[in-house]
Amino acid sequence: MSIAQNLQRITAQLPNNVKLVAVSKFHPVEKVMEAYDAGQRIFGENRAQELAAKAPQMPSDIEWHFIGHLQKNKVRMIMPWASVIQSIDSIELLQLVNKEAARIDRHVKVLLQLHVAKEQTKSGFTIDEVLQAAAEGAFNDLSNVTIAGVMAMATFTDNMEQVASEFEQVHNTFLTLRDKYFASNDAFKQISMGMSEDWHIAVQHGATLVRIGTDIFGAREY
Ligand SMILES: *Cc1c(COP(=O)(O)O)cnc(C)c1O
Repeated sequence: MSIAQNLQRITAQLPNNVKLVAVSKFHPVEKVMEAYDAGQRIFGENRAQELAAKAPQMPSDIEWHFIGHLQKNKVRMIMPWASVIQSIDSIELLQLVNKEAARIDRHVKVLLQLHVAKEQTKSGFTIDEVLQAAAEGAFNDLSNVTIAGVMAMATFTDNMEQVASEFEQVHNTFLTLRDKYFASNDAFKQISMGMSEDWHIAVQHGATLVRIGTDIFGAREY
């Protein structure tokens, strides 16, 4: 199946309120352009250097989402390109993103990454941490950042009940945050979860953004 056919197959199955982030990491610009030419406009990258190298070679109406762990010394590199930084995993990073956005007079949307997987390697706020930070006002008064929702990855496992239960935790945490702390922020509406292996389940549990790479572009060559 071609990239265009894969995109068509996936988008045909997504409910109207769910958007597709085509995860183009490790794929060369000509492959990414195939997706663009098929109408895809939202792309996700997880490495700062790769985003900063690719984005200038691609059309400017693309919405780039940064989805990987973001080191503080790489914030400046992605700031001109990222429309959405999905992977905010600490208050320090959030404040730095706000500062760097202000420095170049840009406004950026961000998602709060939640750690619900049973794996040490995945980053993000635990549910307790994010609720405590919200209660302490850590998400208020950011001049150049809009907090637009949450992002998460499920545990890498064949146990789809576990995956479903993790997605449900993300959904519930999103609702708590929204109703208790973001009631006056209309932009707080995104739940980014679901990858090639588990996006059907994510959609059943309230995802509004799914991040799909392999299912569109094939296997990555590392
Ligand atoms: C690579 C990646 C994806 C896409 O993974 P696939 O299994 O190729 O669909 C989604 N989210 C994040 C954070 C990623 O790093």
